[in-house]
Amino acid sequence: MRDENCIFCKIAGGEIPSTTLYEDDDFRVILDLGPATRGHALLIPKEHYRDLFDLEDEVAEKVLLRARRIAGRMKEALGADGFNLVQNNGKAAGQTVFHFHMHLIPRYENDHAGILWKPGETTPEELEEVKRLVDGQ
Ligand code: 5GP
Ligand code: ZN
Repeated sequence: MRDENCIFCKIAGGEIPSTTLYEDDDFRVILDLGPATRGHALLIPKEHYRDLFDLEDEVAEKVLLRARRIAGRMKEALGADGFNLVQNNGKAAGQTVFHFHMHLIPRYENDHAGILWKPGETTPEELEEVKRLVDGQ
């Protein structure tokens, strides 16, 4: 399914031009126009899925394999020192384009890209409460 109002459907389908690093029947990998670091790319399925929870299992399985293969190539070619895979779901999580995508972000020593979080605090009670809620006991 395509969504005619979705910019990533148009980019993935080639209707809107993009700098494409990789393409197959299911995915396109493009360079991000607002990169966190040099080489920041987006892995985008050609079909429209809103987010992780909307993905078909078959597509979800392919995402990590494609991401790993392309990230490995990018890391080597760009001389990256590390690599982040980032995937946002929902406005609260920073998703701004509501067509599933995985960020492929090469990292360089001292690049100062603000991707990681500042560790917070918790309590044993909170850890137990969260465990209880999630595992349904
Ligand atoms: P999100 O915040 O939804 O996880 O990520 C959306 C990403 O898409 C952002 O990093 C943003 O820079 C990128 N982006 C938004 N519009 C376009 C576009 O038209 N072309 C490209 N190449 N990237 C885009
Ligand atoms: Zn779409």
